[in-house]
Amino acid sequence: MRMLGGSLSRFVHTALDFLLPHMCLLCETETTDGLVCNNCLDYLPVVTSPICHRCGRPIKNGITCRLCKRVSVLDHGRAWMLFIPPSDKLIHHFKYRKKTKLAQLMGRAMATLIRTDHILNRADMIVPVPLFWWKKLHRGYNQAVLLSHVISQETNIREQNTMSRIKNTKTQTRLTERDRRNNVKNAFAVQANGIEDKRILLIDDVLTTGATIQECAHVLKNAGACEVYSCVAAITPG
Ligand SMILES: [Zn+2]
Ligand SMILES: [Zn+2]
Repeated sequence: MRMLGGSLSRFVHTALDFLLPHMCLLCETETTDGLVCNNCLDYLPVVTSPICHRCGRPIKNGITCRLCKRVSVLDHGRAWMLFIPPSDKLIHHFKYRKKTKLAQLMGRAMATLIRTDHILNRADMIVPVPLFWWKKLHRGYNQAVLLSHVISQETNIREQNTMSRIKNTKTQTRLTERDRRNNVKNAFAVQANGIEDKRILLIDDVLTTGATIQECAHVLKNAGACEVYSCVAAITPG
């Protein structure tokens, strides 16, 4: 019965998808694919130079942002959009409202960044930032894995789910910078070997203080990775 219920609801969803007009997730005008209309796409707050060469955050001067100046295990990073309105709304739909189709839009844009970046395009493998198993079960997917699939297809860099989250960390939203670092400390483990002397490109949806990505980079380097890079869909302005 449960099986039947599942496929029936899938059928109804597909039928509705076909029959109902698609609305842009940002402005609610009609679009062809039900994601973002061309007008909203044109006005997304895309990151522009100058950027911190460690994490990809926009900066006014110098070569690194305030956070990376203090500590950075990450060798190089890029971000597609700024995590401000309206792109924060897109991330919200992607992460919490099951709009998994957004992985195509974001993943392709990130792949373009990677292909045209002379450091990122030398990466040996793509590794998605892992979710704790309970969170993944609850959400049904890991958004970083969905992005990694698209990016791997578009760039021909192989994807390897080599990391796992071994600690169910608190949501970082209300934590200070230092608390975030403590929160993710010892939260990750590297599962497989084969990363020794490799250049690894970490993929995630959002980078705020960078605590999560920096901790992943730290664990990967301890396991023998020679360089660790990152590419995220959105980054906070700093
Ligand atoms: Zn729109
Ligand atoms: Zn930085």
